[in-house]
Amino acid sequence: LPSHADLKPFNHAAAGHEGTLSDPDGMLFIKPCTQQEIDFYEKAREHPDFAELMPEYLGTLSLNPTGLADDLEKQVTNEITQQAAAGPSTTSGGSTWQPNKNRKLVTDKSVVLENTTYGYKKPNILDAKLGIRLWADDAPLEKRQRFDEISRTTTSGSHGFRIAGMRVYKGSDDPADLDDEGFKVYDKNFGRFEVNGENLVDAFRKFIFNPRAGIDEDLGKAVAEAFLVDLKKVEKVLSANETRMYSASLLFTFEGDGEALRSAIEKANEEHDALEKVESNKDVDTDGSEKTDGAVASSDAESSVKGKLPDVSGPIEGDLKVIEMTGSKLPDDDDDEDVEMTDVPKIYSLKLIDFAHAEWVPGQGPDENNLFGIRNLIKIFEELVK
Ligand code: ADP
Ligand code: MN
Repeated sequence: LPSHADLKPFNHAAAGHEGTLSDPDGMLFIKPCTQQEIDFYEKAREHPDFAELMPEYLGTLSLNPTGLADDLEKQVTNEITQQAAAGPSTTSGGSTWQPNKNRKLVTDKSVVLENTTYGYKKPNILDAKLGIRLWADDAPLEKRQRFDEISRTTTSGSHGFRIAGMRVYKGSDDPADLDDEGFKVYDKNFGRFEVNGENLVDAFRKFIFNPRAGIDEDLGKAVAEAFLVDLKKVEKVLSANETRMYSASLLFTFEGDGEALRSAIEKANEEHDALEKVESNKDVDTDGSEKTDGAVASSDAESSVKGKLPDVSGPIEGDLKVIEMTGSKLPDDDDDEDVEMTDVPKIYSLKLIDFAHAEWVPGQGPDENNLFGIRNLIKIFEELVK
């Protein structure tokens, strides 16, 4: 773990507040947050299917008034140790709480999460803010009215989500449109004032298909297929859980550099084929002992590789199996093969984020406000793979 002095600003957000941090390696995403967000992450430990949709949660971190960690190493280590030892619902003591004007608890705490953009050469990111209704029950009238007006005039109202921001590598022919890392950045005004029901699919097309970066029809469709499979999983898991989330987002990330994307898919498929070979060797094994003949036969690789992406050189098959790119796992209680996994190039990920206004509501049924948006995203991705 890094020392606190090495924390640096996180510069790859697609939307949201300032003040997020990362570590020197960039594996961590550290976000100042409300107690409600911490509570939601803690409670998610009891819902593993749901937790799988979220970025990996490593714990919390207290920041001193200058915004830097007092003793990052000690505290994060403590959190992780406590989590490992005590299991679900562990909260650490010693933090200070201050009531603010709205009588809400504010804290000097941050959530320490897996940085979902780590391991990519050029991560393309899209933040899709979910929900028709965007405010929680505790919101003041002024905020309700302001958010309702935004919803009414954007795809939040018509489709149950809107694009809160996106970054596309080589997203323009004009170099003046690109930032110093080569991304075209679409800020919150894009989804507020430019995207509507008519051009919504095109906006996603701009995100995924990009010949300038070497992402042609076939490659783009492979990515869209992968997101589609994950979106259907999100729908299934949300339908099976009882939550209310307001202004949460789905964070789409994929490799924006076509060459890196192609080779990451090829590498993953090779690994998949090698694993299958190992599996079939096991099948024909008669003496009862497990034959494992290669490095890829580690349990880590086995658990992260769920299937195979379409061969990007040929036509896209209808019957798609997908690799779940949990990729570079962060340290956790039983993981001693992190180093190996960090070398795996990433392809894509889909994560549910931003639980500042989220809660578990046992007995109240699924979160239809968010499911409406997710079902419309599924329809859009069904268009993209056609
Ligand atoms: P806010 O309350 O400021 O909206 P979010 O949780 O939505 O906070 O995060 C803001 C932005 O930061 C997101 O749009 C996304 O681009 C980025 N982000 C959030 N969580 C992660 C993560 N775990 N890894 C990488 N980037 C993240
Ligand atoms: Mn957000």
